[in-house]
Amino acid sequence: MVEITEQRVLDALRTVRDSGRGDDVVALGMVSGLNVAQGRVSFSLAIDPKDAARLEPLRKAAEAAVAALPGVVSAVAILTAHRAQPAPQRTPPHAHGEKPGLAGVRAIVAVASGKGGVGKSTVAANLALGLAAQGLKVGLLDCDVYGPSMPLMMGVKDKPTKAVDGKRLAPPVSYGVKVMSMGFLASDKTPMIWRGPMVANAVEQMLRGVEWEPLDVLIVDMPPGTGDAQLTLAQRVPLAGAVIVSTPQDIALLDARKGLNMFRQLEVPVLGIIENMSYFHCPHCGERTDVFGHGGAKREAHDTKVEFLGEIPLDIVIRDTSDSGKPITATQPDSKHAEAFREIARKVWAKVSGESARTPPRIVVQ
Ligand code: ADP
Repeated sequence: MVEITEQRVLDALRTVRDSGRGDDVVALGMVSGLNVAQGRVSFSLAIDPKDAARLEPLRKAAEAAVAALPGVVSAVAILTAHRAQPAPQRTPPHAHGEKPGLAGVRAIVAVASGKGGVGKSTVAANLALGLAAQGLKVGLLDCDVYGPSMPLMMGVKDKPTKAVDGKRLAPPVSYGVKVMSMGFLASDKTPMIWRGPMVANAVEQMLRGVEWEPLDVLIVDMPPGTGDAQLTLAQRVPLAGAVIVSTPQDIALLDARKGLNMFRQLEVPVLGIIENMSYFHCPHCGERTDVFGHGGAKREAHDTKVEFLGEIPLDIVIRDTSDSGKPITATQPDSKHAEAFREIARKVWAKVSGESARTPPRIVVQ
């Protein structure tokens, strides 16, 4: 089978021209959030919102050009609102009172990554569970419009129900964490095609149309890249901060830097970087191999003056537990991976709450 690379997708997109502006969509810098995973391609085309109707055929043409590539299973293009100058208005962190937060929710933390497949959702789920393990009340909001995976990862069996007030939704609870997902909004079989304004509306609904309170912290699993969901979230509610998940590969890190810069531009504090699939832990011999050149995220954190929050190895047990709805932090709390996630969670909570980490008392056997 022909392997689909970002380069091939971009080459295909170079054949798609915006006749209004006389150049192709790549040259015009419209393509962002490109994600290629197992033949499934998604990306967004940044446009001025007033051109949305005029550019719908362009969106379709871009999708068709990519879908025609051999090896592509599906191609999804969304139009996202590109705001030219001035930069998006956002309330600075010190003035949270000016922007309505979520009543009864102390802190909202976004989990982001530059590209897909780096384990962002796995980290988001285990981070939420690590926070819950500290006795905190935790919610997990899956805003990954391209591939909502939380219902599966958190082993959620129930759908949201109507809240007592009759207007909002009450989220199902799994392993003690309230979970809400874009995936609940669509049936399993119909892939959703999202346009910019739809993403913004859905994010808004997921925030204010859900009975989250009372919560200490709401973890939001963002779609990969830099797009409308990130922009909407940062603009509509005060964010306590963002956590960036990256693999050690340099290419992933270049993408991670884009995410980092976006949050900085939106004046969202970047709480730190987590290196996932940091090294390979062999389940048979226990040996450790640095598959992707371990330590890239740590260097990146140093270079960009962001805290390095920790590293999680590539381990089949993480994959198995997370893909079978039994996240390791909840189901194998004594494992060292669970401890690593709890340690990351302690750092994150210390940063957003200003409280020093609640470390459980250590029992020392003499
Ligand atoms: P993303 O949200 O970035 O697209 P996911 O969290 O969905 O990524 O992870 C992609 C795949 O990689 C999943 O099958 C997941 O179980 C697996 N995975 C994530 N982190 C690890 C890890 N540290 N070790 C092994 N497998 C992992």
